[in-house]
Amino acid sequence: MKNKNLLIYFTVTMIFCFTLFIIKYISDTKNDYQKISEKILFQQASTLFNNIVNTRKWSSDHGAVYIKAHDGIKPNPYLQDNHEYTKNGELLIKMNPAWMTRQISEMSNKKENYFFKITSLNPLNPINAPDDFEKLALKSLKNSNEEFYTSIGKYKYDFVAPLKVEVSCLECHNTNNYKVGDIIGGIRVSIPTEHYTENIEIINSKTNLLYLVTFFTSIIFIIIITFTIHSIYTRELNIMKLNKTLESKVNQRTKELRRANKKLLEISTIDYLTNLSNRRHFFDIGIKAFHLAKREKNDLSIICIDIDFFKQINDNYGHHIGDEILKLIANKMSKCVRKSDILARTGGEEFTILLNNTNENSAFILAEKLRNIVETSSYKNDEIDVKITISLGISQLKDDDEDLDSIILRADRALYIAKKDSRNKTVIYHF
Ligand code: GH3
Ligand code: MG
Ligand code: MG
Repeated sequence: MKNKNLLIYFTVTMIFCFTLFIIKYISDTKNDYQKISEKILFQQASTLFNNIVNTRKWSSDHGAVYIKAHDGIKPNPYLQDNHEYTKNGELLIKMNPAWMTRQISEMSNKKENYFFKITSLNPLNPINAPDDFEKLALKSLKNSNEEFYTSIGKYKYDFVAPLKVEVSCLECHNTNNYKVGDIIGGIRVSIPTEHYTENIEIINSKTNLLYLVTFFTSIIFIIIITFTIHSIYTRELNIMKLNKTLESKVNQRTKELRRANKKLLEISTIDYLTNLSNRRHFFDIGIKAFHLAKREKNDLSIICIDIDFFKQINDNYGHHIGDEILKLIANKMSKCVRKSDILARTGGEEFTILLNNTNENSAFILAEKLRNIVETSSYKNDEIDVKITISLGISQLKDDDEDLDSIILRADRALYIAKKDSRNKTVIYHF
C-alpha cells in the first residue's frame, strides 16, 4: 500500500513537471511570436523613417528644390527666401527639407496607412509642436542618446527617431544658435497596429486553447494512471487475500484430514467396544515384537484369555449386559498390563496379551493376578450381581519358533486344557 502511494506520487509529479515544461514551451513560443511581430512593426517604421530622412537629405544636398505652385501649396512661411518666379512669371515654391517633410506627411496622413510628423521641443511652426507622447520621446532621446523611441498602443505603433541639425536647417533656425549635429527634434512615424493586434489576439487565443488542452490532458492522464495503479494494487491485494483464504482453508482441510486419518487409524487399530487394540493391530505389532525378541534373544510370552461360560451370561442377562461385562473385564486387565505389553481383544470374548522380555513364569504371575482380579470383582447393578471368571493359557517363545502363531497356538492349547480342567484357571503349556 505504501509502494502504491509512492508510485502514484511519483507519477503525478512526473506528469506535473512535464505539464509545466509544455506550458513554459507554449508561453516562450507565444513571447517569441510577439517579439517577432513587434520587430516587423519596428522594421516597417524604421524603413519609413529612413526613407523620409533620405528624401530630406536629398533635398538638403541640393540646397532645396523648387516646385511649380499648384493645388493651393503655399511657400514655407518660416523660410525667408521661400519662392522664385520663372521668366514666364510662374511661381516656384522652395521645398526645403522641413517643408518637404510637411508636404509628404500631409499626403501620407490623408491615405491613413501611416502617419508622419516632424516635431521639435522648440518648433518654429506651431503645428510641429509635440504632443505628450512626442515630448516624452524627444526628452528621452535627448537624455539617453538612444537611436529611437517606440511605443505600442492599442491602435498604432509609434516610432520616434531624432533629427540632427543640418546646414539647410540653419536657414530658418538662424535665431536658435543651433550647431550642425545638434538634436533639435525628431520624426514620428505611426503605423496602424490592426494586423499586429489581430495576430496577437489569434496567438493569445490559440495559446490559451493549448494551455487548456495541456491542462485537461494532464488531468486525464493523472486520473487514468492513478486509476490503473489503484486497480493493479487492488487486484494484487485481492489475490493476496484469496491466497491467504486458500492457505487457511488448506490448513483447515489438512487438520481435518489429519483428524480423520487419526480417527481412521484408531478405527482400524482399536476395538470399538473395549478400546483395547484389535486383532489386526495386535498382529501388526506382535509380529514385529516376535522378530525383535528372536533376534535379540529376549524372552517373550503370550497369554490367551477366554471368559468362562460367556454364552450363558448373554443368554441369562442379554447381549447388552454381555457387552458391559466385556468392557469391565478389558478395563480391569488393562490397568494391570505394562505399556510396553500388548493387550488386545482378539475374539468375541477372547483376549490375548503379548509380554515383552517376560518368560512363562513371570507371565504366570501376571495371569494369576488377572484371574484373581476378575474372580473377585463382579458386574453389579440394581437388579443383578454377575460373577465372572476367566481361563488363561500361557506359552513362551522357543528357539525353534518360526512365527508368532506358533506361540499363540501353544498358549491356546494351554487355555483349552484350563477349560477342560476346571475353568477359572491358568495353565502353562508344557507338552
Ligand atoms: P466356555 O467357557 O467354554 O468358553 O463357554 P462360552 O460360553 O464362553 O463359549 P462359547 O464359545 O460357547 O460362547 C462364546 C460366546 O460369546 C458366544 C457369543 O454369543 C458370545 N460373544 C462373542 N462376542 C460377543 C460380543 O461382542 N458381545 C457379547 N455380548 N457376546 C459375545
Ligand atoms: Mg471362546
Ligand atoms: Mg468362553
